[in-house]
Amino acid sequence: MTSITRKKSEPLKLIIVGGGYAGLSALITLRNQTPEAEITLIDPRPYHLIITRLHETVHRPLDTIRVAYSLLAKRFDFIHKQQAIQFDEDMLRVWDSNKLIQLGEESLSFDYLLIATGSLPLQAVTEPDVFDLNAISLHGFATVLEQFIARTAATEKTINIVGAGPTGIQFAFEMAHVLLACHADYQLNLIEGGDILLSPFPAAIGRYVQKRLFEKHITVFKSQFYKGKQGREILLENSHSGEKSALASDLTLLLLGKKPELLLHANSSGQVVLDNKVLTHIFTAGDCSHYDDFGSNLMTSQSALRKGKAAAKNILLEAGLLRFCLPYMHQDMGYLLSLGPDDGVGWIGRKSNIISGLPAFIAKEGIEAQYDLLLAGVDSYVL
Ligand SMILES: Cc1cc2nc3c(=O)[nH]c(=O)nc-3n(C[C@H](O)[C@H](O)[C@H](O)COP(=O)(O)OP(=O)(O)OC[C@H]3O[C@@H](n4cnc5c(N)ncnc54)[C@H](O)[C@@H]3O)c2cc1C
Repeated sequence: MTSITRKKSEPLKLIIVGGGYAGLSALITLRNQTPEAEITLIDPRPYHLIITRLHETVHRPLDTIRVAYSLLAKRFDFIHKQQAIQFDEDMLRVWDSNKLIQLGEESLSFDYLLIATGSLPLQAVTEPDVFDLNAISLHGFATVLEQFIARTAATEKTINIVGAGPTGIQFAFEMAHVLLACHADYQLNLIEGGDILLSPFPAAIGRYVQKRLFEKHITVFKSQFYKGKQGREILLENSHSGEKSALASDLTLLLLGKKPELLLHANSSGQVVLDNKVLTHIFTAGDCSHYDDFGSNLMTSQSALRKGKAAAKNILLEAGLLRFCLPYMHQDMGYLLSLGPDDGVGWIGRKSNIISGLPAFIAKEGIEAQYDLLLAGVDSYVL
């Protein structure tokens, strides 16, 4: 294949693979700066999922946290190709030199390509009555819980959430709230592989959550690894002694976190680096990327968003449409967990600034509202 070069008069051709937080923030930044660019988004889903609100699908329809790409395409003037694109490092090298990707039968040429494919849930589900991030992202959880409450007999009332990270904890509090509202008398358990709850966060956050879990009668099992499900029981193994045990489980949520399929190394401009060689036309952002230098590489929505913006600006710099652009230096400015409809906990600004209760819940809602505004076309992210 031959390399395709752009004439100065032709509009910039941009392809973004993955329409999550990083892909969309890049797309919106690029559209705002280059009204005439031809932008194509490749994503297998028909909609963008506001995954930071996924726990809310315990009590509201999944549709309320989905935004159709067809709607976003009209708003931000891009073409959506509903397809997944598979690649490895060798393919990236070929794409970079030819400035062309193959999408099924179709060849798509580009001036710059951004890869923002995020990460995948750690474990796939094969057993009945076990739901993981994939299943919940596709179907939500309100109907599952409703049907479970409607069909369960008096003796089958144990719900286990495996994985007590931020996602598992947020689901636990939402479920406790719904079960209480339905006057349903269920046993809710949280299973954690580590010895300490929320160990990557300041200890005060873990202590606050622990207290609230106790008040909501949610039982925590620590140092237990999930080993599978057999009949009505989940199988656990103690992470220290190796001792095996079983726990009744009529409904199981597996919320074990996510990992990128292929983590791409990038320089501080977001350009992919393979074997010390910079692929000048291929950028990356979000959970699937690891940038050099000082900026945060945490798998958070705010880092994904900022990397997306940084990559977009560096694409414009490379294309000669922007004169100056700072390297990616974003540091996360806080992390907030919602603990049901009027409670929350987290840190803001500095890790020693812990906020909790209704103020934390409202602050988290504010962060979500800022993202909703971005998708509506109002970019208020100054930092
Ligand atoms: C349940 C949950 C709750 C979270 N809550 C928070 C929170 O409160 N605060 C916070 O800061 N972070 C939170 N996170 C983390 C945050 O959501 C991620 O860091 C963020 O979504 C990463 O953005 P991204 O654009 O890299 O990937 P994603 O948002 O995952 O988007 C990736 C996109 O790429 C598409 N894609 C994947 N593979 C392909 C392919 N082969 N071809 C084409 N397209 C592809 C996917 O369909 C998807 O649309 C949460 C994560 C989860 C799972």
